[in-house]
Amino acid sequence: MTKTRTALVTGSTSGIGLGMARALAASGFDVMLNGFGESGAIASLVRDIAAGSGTRIEHHPADMSDPAQVRALVRDTRTRFAGLDVLVNNAGIQHVAPLETFPDEVWQRIIAINLSAAFYASAEALPGMRERGWGRIINTSSVHGLVASVHKAAYVSAKHGIIGLTRVTALESAGSGITCNAICPGFVRTPLADAQIAARAAADGSDLASAASAVLGEKQPSGEFVTVEQIGALLCFLCSPAADQITGAALPIDGGWTAQ
Ligand code: NAD
Repeated sequence: MTKTRTALVTGSTSGIGLGMARALAASGFDVMLNGFGESGAIASLVRDIAAGSGTRIEHHPADMSDPAQVRALVRDTRTRFAGLDVLVNNAGIQHVAPLETFPDEVWQRIIAINLSAAFYASAEALPGMRERGWGRIINTSSVHGLVASVHKAAYVSAKHGIIGLTRVTALESAGSGITCNAICPGFVRTPLADAQIAARAAADGSDLASAASAVLGEKQPSGEFVTVEQIGALLCFLCSPAADQITGAALPIDGGWTAQ
C-alpha cells in the first residue's frame, strides 16, 4: 500500500463496524464513521478513536436504506478526506420471523440496508479507486451468506446476495489494484446478536447466559463468540499487501459453524 489511507465503514457506531473502525484507525487509517446513535455518544466515540490512534476520525449520519444518501456518503467522504481507499459495507439489521408471516416492509428494509446499500456505495467508490490504482472493498456478509437458518428469509437472502456482489466486484476490478472480499462471521456478541439471545431466553424461560450457551451450542462448534477485535484484525490483513491476491473470497470467521 502506498499513501492510501482513508477508510469508510458503514454502520460503525456499534458492534462489528465499530471494532473494524477502531482496528483501521489503530493501523493508521483516517476513518469516516457512519451509523445511528445519540449525538453526544457519537461525538465521544469520534474523540475516543481519534485520541487513541492519532488519525482523523469523522462521522456521517447517512441512512443506508436510502440510495441517494448512500451515494452522498461516499462522495462526501472522498471530498472531505481527499480520497477513499477502503470501503467497508457493514451496516446491517436483522428480523426473525417465519416466511409466511415475514412483513413485506421489513423484507424491503433488510434488502435495502444489508444488500442494496453495498451496491450503491461500491458503484460510487470504484471510479476513484481505479484512478488511484489501489482500493479495498470489504463486505460484511455472514455465515448466513453461506448456509441458512430458519426464520431469517430476508437476512439470509441479503447475505447470500452480497457474496454474489463481492464476486462480481472482484472480477470487474481484477488486475486494477483493487480487491473485493466478503467476511462471514458466525455469532459475535453485539446488540444485533444480543436481541436474538434475549428472544431465546424469553422463549426458553432461561437467563441470558444459558440462552447464549444454547445458541452457540446449536451452531458454533468452538462454543465461543467471535470477537470484534478478531474481525478487525482480519479486515486489516485484507487491507495489507499480503492480501493483494485475495479477491472474490468469502472468508468464514465462525468457530467452525460452516464446516459442519
Ligand atoms: P449492531 O446492531 O451492533 O450494529 C449495526 C450498525 O449498523 C450500527 O452502527 C447501526 O447504527 C448501523 N445501522 C443500522 N441501520 C442503519 C442504516 N439504515 N443506516 C446507517 N447505519 C445503520 O450489529 P452488528 O452485529 O455489529 O452487525 C454489523 C454487521 O455484521 C451486519 O451487517 C450484520 O449482519 C453482520 N453480522 C453480525 C453478526 C453477529 O453475530 N453480530 C454475525 C454475522 C454478520
